[in-house]
Amino acid sequence: MGHVAQSSLLGSVRAFTYKDFRLLWLASLVSLVSFFMVLIARGWLVLERTDSAFLVTAVSAISMVPMFFFSAFGGVIADRLNRRTVLILGEICTRNCKFCSVAAGKPGPPDPTEADRLAEMTARMGVSYLVITSVNRDDLPDGGAAHFRDCVNTVRRRCPGTRFEILTPDFMSSEERALATLAEALPFVFAHNVETVPSLYSVARQGHDYRGSLALLRKAKEVLGPIQTKSSIMLGLGERDDEVIQTLRDLRSVQCDRLTIGQYLKPSRQSLDVVEYITPEKFRWWQDRAQELGFSWVFAAPFARSSYFAEQENMSQKQAV
Ligand code: SF4
Repeated sequence: MGHVAQSSLLGSVRAFTYKDFRLLWLASLVSLVSFFMVLIARGWLVLERTDSAFLVTAVSAISMVPMFFFSAFGGVIADRLNRRTVLILGEICTRNCKFCSVAAGKPGPPDPTEADRLAEMTARMGVSYLVITSVNRDDLPDGGAAHFRDCVNTVRRRCPGTRFEILTPDFMSSEERALATLAEALPFVFAHNVETVPSLYSVARQGHDYRGSLALLRKAKEVLGPIQTKSSIMLGLGERDDEVIQTLRDLRSVQCDRLTIGQYLKPSRQSLDVVEYITPEKFRWWQDRAQELGFSWVFAAPFARSSYFAEQENMSQKQAV
């Protein structure tokens, strides 16, 4: 009896293994595609639309797997914590950074309905921490600062419990005016990314001024009062370690509080090539160096981007945002 049962069992296992293999393969493929489609539909496969505008769809094969799993994992966390990142002021930038895939050109005027639509989205999604970023808007006299202010204030009126982080362009020709305008929308975390070391600006970030970015972070501290400031850099563009250390020191010299350090990934065929993939161990080393330099919040990892885990508060210094 036992022998017969064993034979039947073996027979059914063989039948399943060989006869239904194609069906199993097809079902697995459909499941995988569906899984990707759900992630795309939920927006989890878009890392963020930030000042750097990296899209996970453009990452190289070598980084796709960890990026994919982190995107999925990060999406779950984002859902649980109700953090969202939005890009305002259009999708056309007045600059043309070589590490970024955002279209360059002449943008249209700011959308007067954007603040209300953002408030509606925040309310309907129950967003508790909203990161607002934009393309560069050199065409506007205030660099887009009034639009940032209006978005924050409109959302806050509708959703008083929501906290804010704004990731701004450099307001190169309108710095003082822009900061005075933003002061009307406090409190928030003020973020501006230096993106890379100064020696690579001529290649990667033409039209930007490294010293100007540092000055903006310093003035934000002065003008906006006791806020937290934040910046981000990418590694893998060909920077040297001593240049990165100096950049971290420069950021601390303007009292930048928060820092993210992530891996540069080529977002389009026209973009700069990745010079180096930094190991997770090296990112951990950078995390330690940055903390030693006095940043109160550091996130250094291959997949780190400006707004990842942005809602986390300082362990040592709770902020009123
Ligand atoms: S300023 Fe540079 S990084 Fe930012 S959106 Fe424009 S092109 Fe991209």
